[in-house]
This record gives sequence, C-alpha cells and structure tokens, in this order.
Amino acid sequence: MVEMAGLNKWYGEHHVLRDVALGLARGEKIVLCGPSGSGKSTLIRCINGLEPFHEGDLTVCGTRLDGSAQALAEVRRHAGMVFQSFNLFPHLTVLENLTLGAVYARGEPEARAAERAHGLLARVRLSDQTLKFPGQLSGGQRQRVAIARALMLEPEVMLFDEPTSALDPEMVHEVLDVMEELAAAGQSMIVVTHEMGFARRVADLVVFMDRGEIVEAAPPATFFEAPATERARTFIGQIS
Ligand code: ATP
Ligand code: MG
Repeated sequence: MVEMAGLNKWYGEHHVLRDVALGLARGEKIVLCGPSGSGKSTLIRCINGLEPFHEGDLTVCGTRLDGSAQALAEVRRHAGMVFQSFNLFPHLTVLENLTLGAVYARGEPEARAAERAHGLLARVRLSDQTLKFPGQLSGGQRQRVAIARALMLEPEVMLFDEPTSALDPEMVHEVLDVMEELAAAGQSMIVVTHEMGFARRVADLVVFMDRGEIVEAAPPATFFEAPATERARTFIGQIS
C-alpha cells in the first residue's frame, strides 16, 4: 500500500524528515506517534502528496510519487485523508458534502453517489443527520462526516492526522469507535494519534518519531511494555 525509503525533507535549514523508511501492507494499521514537532503531520502529508519531499522514494498504492501532477492525482484517488479540523464545506448539507466530489470529480451519477453516501452515513451512524449543515453538528458528528466523505473515494489507504485531538473528551470515543470498525473491516490505515488505547487495540505496528526520525517501530505490546529507547520511554510516560 505504502512503501518509502530514504525520505528526507527540509523546511529551509530545518531537517524535518530524516531518512524515513516505512512500509504499510494491505490491511495493515499503523499508529504514528511522537512529540510535537517530530514530523508526523509532515510525513503523512507527504504520503498523500500534500507536501513535496527532497530525497527518497515513496510509492503509494502502486504509484511512485515522482513530482508529476499525474502521480499526485493518482495517489489522491486512492488515499483518503482525515484531518484534525474537519474541513467540511459549511454551505453544503452533510449529504452534499459527501456527494460533491463523486459527482463533480468522478462524474458519478447523482443518484448512485447519494445511494453510496447514505450507506456510508449509516456506517458512521449519522443516518438521521443527512440534511443538516456542518454548523448544526457536534464536533464528533462533523468528524464522522469527514470520515464518511473520505470513504466515498473507496480509498485503498486511509490517513488520519490527529482526528480526535480537536474534540471534547466525550466525543472522542464515537470517532474512535468508527475508526475501529473500519480497521476491523480490513481498511489499511496510518493514524497519527496519541490515543494509546486505540493504538493498543488496533495497531499492528506503533511507529514512534522524534526530531524527524523513526526511532522505534514495534507491535503495541512491545512498544508500551518494553520500549527500546529512552526517548520512547519518556514519551510514553508523558502521554499515559
Ligand atoms: P504536532 O504533534 O504538534 O502536530 P508534528 O509531529 O505533526 O507535530 P510537523 O507538523 O510535521 O510535526 O512539523 C515538523 C517540524 O516542521 C516542526 O518543527 C514544524 O515547526 C516544522 N514545520 C511544519 N510545517 C512547516 C512549514 N510549512 N514551514 C516551516 N516549518 C514547518
Ligand atoms: Mg501534527
């Protein structure tokens, strides 16, 4: 699904990704964690082609990101992205937020797109909210709309960047539940999160980044019970 090697990126003098190598197999779930500023968002944005990188190889769903617009379009067709802020269109209903891309970008007939949207909204338990506008929803509901919208692509891989960190605590679990169901259904995903309960339950691999490097990558039991480095130990101590 995702293969990368020797990925390097700088912002001016600042070396934000240092020789990053990571692979995600079909159906696999990776949780990416690490201190603020360690490069997690930058890495996940590179995978979706939202950020260019300077060195290395990155192939997403069979397409090598070579800087061409064609590769970029191809990768975005197969990788769904969910951000911390929901990025919904405020002037469109929930249903229209889902169908817009399918109808205009993919040329899908409106009725067919609406049928798929209703199916996905049921899956994220929002069947009763389809005609509301984003401003009329809670944060947890908005984020579930954002997830359903990303799923309209039928993505081979889902990329999540701190999807619950902007939510009130009581809404976090409703979003994590939906993500867990997706994971159980076999969706390949990379999730940046500090929700360590989610990581323990869902991740095949926990990847710990610090200062632009992958410092550790291990199954959750190993990572949490027996971290190999002092940096990971310190980090786990701070978040749990
Ligand atoms: P957080 O947990 O706070 O979200 P992060 O691990 O996602 O942190 P990134 O957002 O990837 O970290 O940032 C990595 C480093 O790159 C940080 O030092 C940040 O200040 C810097 N950085 C990020 N975006 C830019 C940018 N557009 N221009 C310059 N520097 C940037
Ligand atoms: Mg970030």
